[in-house]
This record gives sequence, structure tokens and C-alpha cells, in this order.
Amino acid sequence: MSHSRSKHSFRTRAIHVGNEVDPQTGAVVPPIHLASTFRQPGAGEWGDFDYSRSGNPTRSNLQSTLTSLEGGCGSLAFSSGMAAIHGVTMMLSTGDHVLAGCDLYGGAYRLLHKICSRSGIDVTLVDMTDTGAVEAAIQPNTKLIWAETIGNPRLSIPDLPSLAKIAKSRGVRIGVDNTFGTPSLIRPLECGIDIVMHSATKYLGGHSDCLGGTLSVADQILFDELYYIQNATGAVLDPLSCFLVSRGLKTLDLRVREQSATSLKLAVWLQQHPQVKSVLYPGLETHPQHAVAKELLNGGFGAIVTFELDAGIKETAKVCETTSLFHLAVSLGAVESLIEQPATMSHASYDAADRAKFGITDGLIRLSVGLESYEDLQADLEQAIAAARAK
Ligand SMILES: *Cc1c(COP(=O)(O)O)cnc(C)c1O
Repeated sequence: MSHSRSKHSFRTRAIHVGNEVDPQTGAVVPPIHLASTFRQPGAGEWGDFDYSRSGNPTRSNLQSTLTSLEGGCGSLAFSSGMAAIHGVTMMLSTGDHVLAGCDLYGGAYRLLHKICSRSGIDVTLVDMTDTGAVEAAIQPNTKLIWAETIGNPRLSIPDLPSLAKIAKSRGVRIGVDNTFGTPSLIRPLECGIDIVMHSATKYLGGHSDCLGGTLSVADQILFDELYYIQNATGAVLDPLSCFLVSRGLKTLDLRVREQSATSLKLAVWLQQHPQVKSVLYPGLETHPQHAVAKELLNGGFGAIVTFELDAGIKETAKVCETTSLFHLAVSLGAVESLIEQPATMSHASYDAADRAKFGITDGLIRLSVGLESYEDLQADLEQAIAAARAK
């Protein structure tokens, strides 16, 4: 089905692929299939679906949509983003080595350092924007390179085509977490990346009302290997959440473009604010990888803005506690704006030494910019920064 519709644009495919009219009723929204098991045509004969861990029509629909959007040969929906990353790391064996970005989601850091390490898997963190450093850090036992299309929380942007080339030449698989980038702005499989992962909890779902994770790949053998792991270990996405993510995908492109536009305006305003030391946003010329971002990202620079206040840990926390529209919460990528302090919240699972080494300072604030109006969001930040200063 996705083939016959591949001539359509991204936005059209997001609405139509995987959302075919129900042949039985004509419903324009496919029904949600809650069945855990499916009646078979005969003993030892199998229909399209047999047991919902192995396959479910609602999950298949979501996977088809996503495959069409990411441009691969197949996708898998997991119970959370972490379950999806864990699915990738389960391809590794004792003695293998992982090279991961130093600007890494806190949960991925924890999975690699505190769980994978128990199976004798070694991890090295490296600055993924420094391709020379990446190449130099590859060891004979390196089996996986793991990067983020837009890093977290410092919003570093690796040159994905170069990383893919290095990985290929050294015979190492490369996966990227595209949660911050979204297929609306960047499609890593088209850059030669082997595995694209999403926390569907964020932009794909887009409404802070479900958890989910996905993997998309362009190689059938790799897909089969990941499917085998998922079916054997069981962290699949439930049908109701699959439906919610499918619904979210229909507006992904519109949301991400609008949120990116508001983010750029907020970043420009923050940059001239006297209490703000620095602003990290890929759309600003001052961002260290602005040129790479302009080349790789299409239609916006994402909707996460990180900035550093000229303040200590307490005053920074106060600002985060004083906004009214920006909710003080981890997570990101939804219609409502969120604010958080990486040092005490999203990146608290980093060791203190690694936080200091990788620039996750006490004055850092991360915004997830939602769909509220720019004027309201700017006024909310302005009053919060002023109120914390007055204390
Ligand atoms: C949230 C997030 C994850 C983890 O996803 P969950 O759905 O919370 O398990 C991984 N990577 C990034 C970049 C995230 O923002």
C-alpha cells in the first residue's frame, strides 16, 4: 500500500498510509483491534495475524505509516522509547563495545552504563559532531554507534552522512535517536543510517497522553533480526497507544513546523535578554553546528531551546517553578510547552563528573516549545526570569 502512495507528499502520506478505509464498515478511521489472539484457518496454517505480541492490525497500521514517513523497509512499535533502544542493544553480546554521543538522552546513558554494562558491554562517549574523534574512538570490538540527530540537552547536530560513511567503512552499525529531529525535519535512513529510533511519547504522539517507541530500518535482514528480538522479549506497543500515535502522526508536520517557528523567535528573544548567558538553538548563527543544521534539517530547526541563565542552581530552579504556561515537567514534543532544569531533572541520571564534563551546568534550562502563541510564551518566560531575580 505504501508503494502505490509513495508519489504523495509527506503530509498526505501521514494521513493516508496505514489509515485505509475499513472495508467492512467504510469507517475512515480504522478500528482499534484489541484482540490478543486471532482464529486460524487450520492447525498449522497461519493467517496474517496469530497472537498480538507477534503482530496486531492496529500496530501494523502505525508501523506502515511510520515506514512511509521515514522511508525505510519496515518499522516496529515498542512499549516505550527506552524499550526500542533496548531492542537495539539486545543485538549486542558480551565483549562488544558501543560508541555513543556525549550529548545523550539521560535514559539512554543509564541503559548503556548501568544495564548493558552488566552483560559485559563496554561504552565510550564521544562528541558526535567531531567525526575525527568518532573515527579514532572505534575499536576492533565496536559493534554499534549510537547518536542523536539533535543532541540532548546541548542540541549538538552530528553530520549524519559523514558518520554513516565512517560506520560503513569500518563495518559498524549506526543507529540514531531521531526523537528531537522527527521525520518531518530529517530522515536519517536517507543519509545512510542503519536504524532510526523515536520516543513516540514525544512528537509522534504529540499530546503527552501515551508512551511509545519505534525503530525503522532500510534493510530487511536487520528488520528481521530486530523483529525476532521484539517478539522474543515482548516489549510491544499496545493497540490503544498505537492508535494515539497514529492519530498524532497525521498532524506531525504541521505541529513541528509551527513549533519550530515559535522556537526560533523565542531563541532570538532570549539571546538579547540581559540575564541570559547563552542560548543553544540550531537555528541561531551562534550555534556551533548551524551550518550542518541548515544543510540537514528541512523546514525548521526543531522545538527544543536550551539556554543558560546567569544564575546558580537555586535561582535557575526558581525560574522553572515560576512559569505558568510552561509546565515544570520532563518530556517534550507535545502541544503544551514544558520547562525543566537538566542538571536536576532530565540528566540527573548522569554521573556528576559527566554532567560537568559535557556542559550540563546548573544554570541550564531546557524548553520544549508547544503550540501556544509566541506572545504568550515570551511573556511567561519574561515574568518568570524577573520574579526569580527579585527574590
Ligand atoms: C523520551 C526520550 C527517550 C525515551 O523514550 P520513552 O518513551 O520515555 O521511553 C529517548 N530519547 C529521547 C531523545 C527522548 O526524548
